[in-house]
Amino acid sequence: MTHKNILIVGAGFSGATAARCLVEKFPHIRVTVLDKRSHTAGNCHTSRDPVTGVMLHVYGPHVFHTDRQDVWNFVNRFAVFRPFILRTKTTTRGEAFGLPINLHTINQFFRKNFTPQEARDFIATKADKSIIEAQNFEEQALKFIGPELYYAFFRGYTMKQWGCDPKMLPASILKRLPLRFDYNDNYFNDPYQGIPEQGYTAMVENLLDDSRICVKLNTEYVRDMSAAYDMTIYTGEIDRFFAYDEGRLRYRTVFWKTEKAIASQTECKTSTITTSPDLKVYDLQGTAVMNFPDPDVPFTRKIEHKHFAPWETHAGSVLYTEFSKETEADDTPYYPKRLSSDLLLLTKYQKRASELPNIHFLGRLATYRYMDMHQVIGEALDFVHVQ
Ligand code: UDP
Repeated sequence: MTHKNILIVGAGFSGATAARCLVEKFPHIRVTVLDKRSHTAGNCHTSRDPVTGVMLHVYGPHVFHTDRQDVWNFVNRFAVFRPFILRTKTTTRGEAFGLPINLHTINQFFRKNFTPQEARDFIATKADKSIIEAQNFEEQALKFIGPELYYAFFRGYTMKQWGCDPKMLPASILKRLPLRFDYNDNYFNDPYQGIPEQGYTAMVENLLDDSRICVKLNTEYVRDMSAAYDMTIYTGEIDRFFAYDEGRLRYRTVFWKTEKAIASQTECKTSTITTSPDLKVYDLQGTAVMNFPDPDVPFTRKIEHKHFAPWETHAGSVLYTEFSKETEADDTPYYPKRLSSDLLLLTKYQKRASELPNIHFLGRLATYRYMDMHQVIGEALDFVHVQ
């Protein structure tokens, strides 16, 4: 690497991982990391709620999981990870079930007492055998679980989350979730799973804590800034980089209604609590994530933050009720929709991006892909590896 000064736009996992790995691999270089926000860690940002002391996943819940040994080794250098297994619940038609769909879900839903093989055979009778290769989310569901489970657990949720018919979405979105014929209700299959004890922002701050890295928060990137650097790594939205001049890529964004329960009954800030005044430990829903797939419920899920840190004890609690909507000009982009018109637009931007010397596009927003934390970190490690 002949470059000496590198600019990284974005202090999320992509930018922070790239920054750290670059200075460790090439000790002569200096990296400046910009972020328009007032904090690092992007949408993984965590901070303590000043009232309850609960660690908040400010932009929604994040559970770290990976099957890559190098990624797991890397993140463990910058945080103490506590074991955490996500066991999502879902309330459909007035009854709570476990997700991902597992033997317990199947037996409870169909009022059966199947063994694993019986459940496998039973679900096979539900599956639509006319679908050879699923072309979209709905076909993937009908092919693997059949209509009853699809309508109860996935169709309504997906329409609310993505704002479109599941037939327009790729099958890959559903493939993120396991389907199990045993009682394992772990949301993920990965061998390494956990949450950093002090939250993700503390971890990203540790990643960026190197004398060769200069972090500038509250700083908006403009393209002219790149002229002062040998190379730019851009981790923001690719369409924003080009001032949206070919059009906007579509994202879904999420927003929340927040309920807070605090220790004494007189200070109780939530209408959902009717407890005795001496009850000091509030538990609003008893679990970290409760999904609501029914189409007539306006929100998608409820998140109770303290259940993401079971090693802590808090007298209060914070609950987010999550709603989904199409991203407008100043909204935070979350989920890239990747409908066919988006992909056409993306191709145009990618062609222009590939013609720019010394500018690299890295991460979820810059590549417009539905990526998890471990994938973003893995991509940044791989990027530095080939430099
Ligand atoms: N999904 C669903 N019902 C659920 C949970 C998920 O229909 O109760 C669908 C939804 O379309 C979602 C996809 O499965 O986008 C992947 O779910 P995942 O939990 O991976 O989404 P994320 O955690 O990224 O929001």
